[in-house]
Amino acid sequence: MKESVYGGWFSFLPKVKGFLLDTVYPERAVCRACGKITEGGVLCKECQSRLGADGTLFAWDREDLEPDLPAYTLRPHEGVARQLVIRLKHSAERCLAEELADLLVPLPPFISFPPDTVVTWVPMPESRRLERCIDHGQVLARAAAERLGLPCRQLLKRAETKDRPQATLNREQREKNLSQAFSPAAAITFPVLLVDDVLTTGTTARRCAAALRLAGAENITFLAVTRAMRG
Ligand SMILES: [Zn+2]
Repeated sequence: MKESVYGGWFSFLPKVKGFLLDTVYPERAVCRACGKITEGGVLCKECQSRLGADGTLFAWDREDLEPDLPAYTLRPHEGVARQLVIRLKHSAERCLAEELADLLVPLPPFISFPPDTVVTWVPMPESRRLERCIDHGQVLARAAAERLGLPCRQLLKRAETKDRPQATLNREQREKNLSQAFSPAAAITFPVLLVDDVLTTGTTARRCAAALRLAGAENITFLAVTRAMRG
């Protein structure tokens, strides 16, 4: 009996600690890339200027993951952009999604979408979403859609799997893991913009595109903030 009382209190402690930390260090007071105290931004001045400089040689690369699946990526997966992407994956703080989405606009003239385009995301398994309280892909897609002036809707469902996270798998293992992972969530009669944080092997994007096509999608574009594992 005693044990369960203490167990209840101790399980409550991390929440108290979190509350106190939030009060002392409000969400936007610590640089999300280097950890320095900032004057109120998501990034300190140094990281902000590095973020601006990092991507100047690699702005909006296009590659075709399949004949009908153009993929645009804004930055290489390195430096401050990489740190923001990794942090968003693990903490899903909205301010990080906002910061990354800010990088996406304005789009260059060679990337444009019909006005009836719907933005969507790569959903994470429901069990993981419940564990983390938030789907970082959804948060990023919503922030991007807002900036692009396009609607954002869930168009894909993800099957529950007990498999390891994609990041720990090689290309062959990813293919196998994702073969049945995605299915359509709605009928699609409009162009789709699939937004993600990072493009790695392209397997996830191709699987999602296959599921979107099953639902009727004919015009699919993939867009990610960073590009990893080039070549
Ligand atoms: Zn910093």
